[in-house]
Amino acid sequence: MRNVVASPLSGLDAGGRCDVRPLVARFDDAVCADPELSHLGGRFLFAIDDGRGDVINGAFDLGFLATGPDLGVVLAGSSGHGWEVSLGTAVPMLLTLAREFASRTGRGESAWHVDELENPLGPAPTARPEVPAPPRTPLGAVGRHAVVAVPLGLLRREHVDALAQVADRVRVTPWRSLVIEDAAAALPGLEAVGLVTHSGSPWNRLHACTGLPGCDRSALDTRALARQLAPLLPAGRLPVHVSGCARRCGTPATAYVDVLAPTSTGEALSTIREQEASWT
Ligand code: SF4
Repeated sequence: MRNVVASPLSGLDAGGRCDVRPLVARFDDAVCADPELSHLGGRFLFAIDDGRGDVINGAFDLGFLATGPDLGVVLAGSSGHGWEVSLGTAVPMLLTLAREFASRTGRGESAWHVDELENPLGPAPTARPEVPAPPRTPLGAVGRHAVVAVPLGLLRREHVDALAQVADRVRVTPWRSLVIEDAAAALPGLEAVGLVTHSGSPWNRLHACTGLPGCDRSALDTRALARQLAPLLPAGRLPVHVSGCARRCGTPATAYVDVLAPTSTGEALSTIREQEASWT
């Protein structure tokens, strides 16, 4: 089991400092070939960022941030400190640190994540890179490629059928969207089946937790309510998240409008207007 997130547009546009696709492939092969790493917990996350700052700004356990075409820094948890590496030595460094984590937690040290270890991982750090601010989440045409958001993060049959017409595979982003290579010309057809291709769509900023019937803690069918809200959503800057209970699963990491267990669409709309107004 391994969880690896990498800059989804790497190698497809000029946003990064290098193309991390070969590094990701080498890393994935190496993790799968190492039995020691099968002991890593299911929540352990590797983040490989091509230098644009899109995935390294989130929470991760071990990360790589490219700082040049052949250079980068391996990072452990949220400390901000790390070790300078070349693209050729990044994978061995990540594996060494992951093995140390697996070995220490296997010997009884209690931690799910690198940040929870009592003592820092690895040798003394050699670098503290400047992490770029996260870029705007892309949507629509990116050069000759396409990025489409998926309403509520739920791919429906008609979405999959339309995607299969234009590509054999897609890249799934951490932002409920898909990158489809060489598919910019197909955007109108993808939009016609309900995929989101422009930032003006309500589905670009409207989310919901699982809610009923998938989660019995919920007070309501959150996704049904979100579908009722979508055509009525007032203009605004903030993401809007509908939660079925106070756990608020899946909320954005940034500021957002918190629609908690509303009893009606009208109540949800009032909450959205009030909270948007308080941010302006
Ligand atoms: S926020 Fe509450 S209702 Fe929604 S998925 Fe999480 S636990 Fe379930």
